[in-house]
Amino acid sequence: MNTIVSIVRCPDYSQAKDSIIESLDLIGGLDKIIKPGDRVLLKANILAARPPEDAVTTHPAVITAMCELVSDIGAIPIVGDGSGITHPGATAEALKMSGIKDAAQKCGAEIVNFETAGFVEVDVPDAKQFPRLYIAKPILEVDVIISLPKLKTHELMYYTGAVKNFFGAVPLKTRKQAHLLAKRDLFGEAVVDIYSIVKPHLAVMDGVVGMEGNGPAHGTPINTGVIIASYDCVALDMVASELIGFEPMLIPTNHAALERKLSTGQPKIVGTPLEDVKVKFKESTGGITTMAPAFITGRLGKLFTMRPHINTEKCVLCGTCVLNCSPHAIEEIDGKLKINDDKCIQCYCCRELCPHNAVEIKRSMIAKILTRMNETRS
Ligand code: SF4
Ligand code: SF4
Repeated sequence: MNTIVSIVRCPDYSQAKDSIIESLDLIGGLDKIIKPGDRVLLKANILAARPPEDAVTTHPAVITAMCELVSDIGAIPIVGDGSGITHPGATAEALKMSGIKDAAQKCGAEIVNFETAGFVEVDVPDAKQFPRLYIAKPILEVDVIISLPKLKTHELMYYTGAVKNFFGAVPLKTRKQAHLLAKRDLFGEAVVDIYSIVKPHLAVMDGVVGMEGNGPAHGTPINTGVIIASYDCVALDMVASELIGFEPMLIPTNHAALERKLSTGQPKIVGTPLEDVKVKFKESTGGITTMAPAFITGRLGKLFTMRPHINTEKCVLCGTCVLNCSPHAIEEIDGKLKINDDKCIQCYCCRELCPHNAVEIKRSMIAKILTRMNETRS
């Protein structure tokens, strides 16, 4: 396993491409994992509809640089993610607001919205939390996967980086189930279950401006001035978490990944020495999920529901939703369509694709309150 991790200084985004090239050269180059004609998924962090200066999402300059570098090899760049769980349609808004859609389009890259691209059910060997998972289709259909995380704190994981970046690969229901585990180590295991299926080939971290404090969405931007690259996402996370002041083995995703032997846990740093670029980040003071006892968050979480529901007055039985529902959760009963809540994974593809706007969202009271709070804070 190649656990080389490169650190390259990058004082601002105008120098992102040069720093990324240097960071990749230091570990062995992009052409080591990509050949002409390959379809290459650039998995950005597109957590929420926030502008680049808020440091919530991967900066568009990093997207542009990576699209150009992939294209230079003669491969096909594809940019994608699935956003956080505020409401259906959030990913399309986040792609736009983050500047990532614009950056990808200017480079001629494909854009995939995990929220609407469909999901495939897979077995998870050696799973700790999820023996079976629905994974976004684009992840399973490309030749090469590159993680493009943002360097940030996280209320549950302390730190979020290259491994946690793949949390966006599963539908909202799974993400909610993972949060309902309500313990850091169990949540870390769930994230690593997802990571173990994705098997990314490379990570290039946007650490030019990171986020400290109440990350991953409500913290404060902080200049860190680095690009970090590695073929091993876990090794990169160990270095990056130490860079911002955490003990790497206390990060639940690092710990869970090493327990599963998904890395050797001995990163070899090249480029700028770690000590020269360390910046102590303020830790997250935690949101509701970390402040409240597990039994309370568990109960609240169960009351947080956003279920799709078919308005049979509007539905013309065209069948589009049935065809595109990965877990076959839409059933015909007495000539009308109904969603089976037990089977539904809350991907909201049906809502996105319905040409008659017949799929509505029923929010529980708690969901209404929390969504409103979240949107106010955003
Ligand atoms: S896509 Fe819309 S109109 Fe078509 S069957 Fe489904 S709910 Fe009805
Ligand atoms: S019913 Fe709709 S939201 Fe539920 S799994 Fe099917 S397509 Fe996704």
